[in-house]
Amino acid sequence: MELISIAAFTDNYIWMLHDGVDAIVVDPGDAAPVIAALKAHSLRLAAILVTHHHGDHVGGIADLRHLLVGKVYGPAREQIPQPCVSVHAGESLTLLGLDFSVIDVPGHTSGHIAFFLADCDDGKAPILFCGDTLFSAGCGRLFEGTPAQMHTSLQRLAKLPGNTRVCCAHEYTLSNLRFAQAIAPAGPALTRYVAWCEAQRAQGLPTLPSTLATELQVNPFLRCTEPDIVAAATARAATLNPTEPLAADSDPVAVFATLRQWKNDFR
Ligand SMILES: [Zn+2]
Repeated sequence: MELISIAAFTDNYIWMLHDGVDAIVVDPGDAAPVIAALKAHSLRLAAILVTHHHGDHVGGIADLRHLLVGKVYGPAREQIPQPCVSVHAGESLTLLGLDFSVIDVPGHTSGHIAFFLADCDDGKAPILFCGDTLFSAGCGRLFEGTPAQMHTSLQRLAKLPGNTRVCCAHEYTLSNLRFAQAIAPAGPALTRYVAWCEAQRAQGLPTLPSTLATELQVNPFLRCTEPDIVAAATARAATLNPTEPLAADSDPVAVFATLRQWKNDFR
């Protein structure tokens, strides 16, 4: 199985997994780059997976339909503007002989799902297609969900194996890292990762997939109980709202909510 990131729009990635004959694509917001990739590798389009309803994730489905041998699979709790098979959290989906499990990750949108492939059948690390929920060093904006929902969703993903390849749908890494460096003193892991990501981008290469082990070290949104992040969030909350500061031993959801709002306002 080969994993390819297809660049689309300004900073989207459409992920493709193929066995040399058949391909699965995830969140095809645009058909043209997918068609080009199918042609370049002489592949059939066997299935489309959709994580959530936003246009930059589903906009290409209509123009891919005539090439599609199999089906489109999308979240049961969202309206996808194309016919698709609804899949629920906890369900397992077998495609190209691979078992994908569906994980509920509401927050960015209310019915957002992720697809997890524990066994790629070739000895390689597991793969997570997480749409706009988890980004490298960041997370999606809360368009439809609450901080508590998103925090729970991220914690669900954080429990997956550390070597999991994290396939996010946007190249936001450098901007997220600027935020991570600004809010708390950077440890050696963050400093090393920043240097690596800057080198990748300087060569026009993706920073993705990341790994979950890396994210647990560098992503402030997965580190809401770590003392440096709790201290940063507590100080921020005290500045914004001196009458209702976070407690020093604040609960992780309050820390997460403070970080998410801080990132929204961060320039
Ligand atoms: Zn989105």
